[in-house]
Amino acid sequence: MSPDATPFSSETQAIHSGRNIDPATGALTAPIHLSTTFERDGDGSYPKGYVYGRSGNPNRDALETALTTLEKGSETATFASGSTATFSLLQALGPADHVIAPQSVYFGVQQMLSHIFAPWGLRYTLVDTTDLAAVAEALRPNTRLVLIETPSNPQLAVTDIQAIADLAHQADAYLACDNTIASPVLQTPLTLGADFVIHATTKYLAGHGDVIGGAVVTRESNPLFAQLRLVQTIGGVVPSPFDCWLTLRGLQTLPLRVRAQSQAAQSMATWLSQHPAIEQVLYPGLPEHPGHEVAQKQMQGYGGLLSFLVKGDQDRAMEVAAKTNLIARATSFGSPHSAIEHRASIEQGTQTAPNLLRLSVGLEHVDDLIADLEQALSR
Ligand SMILES: *Cc1c(COP(=O)(O)O)cnc(C)c1O
Repeated sequence: MSPDATPFSSETQAIHSGRNIDPATGALTAPIHLSTTFERDGDGSYPKGYVYGRSGNPNRDALETALTTLEKGSETATFASGSTATFSLLQALGPADHVIAPQSVYFGVQQMLSHIFAPWGLRYTLVDTTDLAAVAEALRPNTRLVLIETPSNPQLAVTDIQAIADLAHQADAYLACDNTIASPVLQTPLTLGADFVIHATTKYLAGHGDVIGGAVVTRESNPLFAQLRLVQTIGGVVPSPFDCWLTLRGLQTLPLRVRAQSQAAQSMATWLSQHPAIEQVLYPGLPEHPGHEVAQKQMQGYGGLLSFLVKGDQDRAMEVAAKTNLIARATSFGSPHSAIEHRASIEQGTQTAPNLLRLSVGLEHVDDLIADLEQALSR
């Protein structure tokens, strides 16, 4: 039976999907195919299906197969970064098409919309996608794509995937869901009606903080994905064979890592919410979180990322971050190494609160992480 078949659990698929024993050597771990070009037969055909490294490579195919399986889609296109995955999907639209994106969309996406796609002619509206009426009102006859991010970064706001899919489809628009923060272990948006899943594989999927990458998985073949494939192979924003190999290696432990990180994040969110130096904790796993009910419906666990507001101003938040020892002051998330970040000082012009710190819970022991935060919060 193929490892991509549905009877297998995600743990098994994460280890076996996209992997075949190398027919030339018997190696269980695939070799890295660095060759840029592949031999033609005398009759002009390409017997192994590969022509040139930009249009196709065995390591990239293996990664795309594994991501398709884990996200329960039909096809995947991988990219050189998470940003260029979203960028390429937007580029596959036409100028004069209209896009709806969250008000709190990933900062880089906000920048590409305003600095690159708006001058090119793409129209867009930023709305609070947790508000279904606001999304319904923003839809226009030329809306081709609705983009959501759930849970969102760094607010951890939760959008109802199925409800937005219904709204988008009634308006003949596609729904793309950025699943970077949840990962397919906790949430599979394609099974809830989304047409595309976007990933910064940089984060949980590769999972070790050593490779930048991105992917778009489609639920079924459609004209927008066909155009996206052209952007990938003609535009050439492809990941290197080594990037693909590293990401596929990281995927093997994805279910174990994400479940452990979710569990630790839930403990830390609960502990922080009872701490006298904390004003508010943003984590969908807390019953008081405004998105908790929707999260409960569409997620199996609430993820390893949380944000919290420190009592006091920006200086106080910076002071807390400055005192952590084990938890690194660094951007990004999804690595074994825990990281804390003051978001407002790197996102100019967003609504992120000045006293917000975002915490990426790694794979250290949760007691050690809590002890580090405890001493950082003390005066
Ligand atoms: C990190 C991230 C991106 C961008 O990915 P890069 O690999 O850094 O380009 C996009 N969306 C979300 C939600 C992210 O967290």
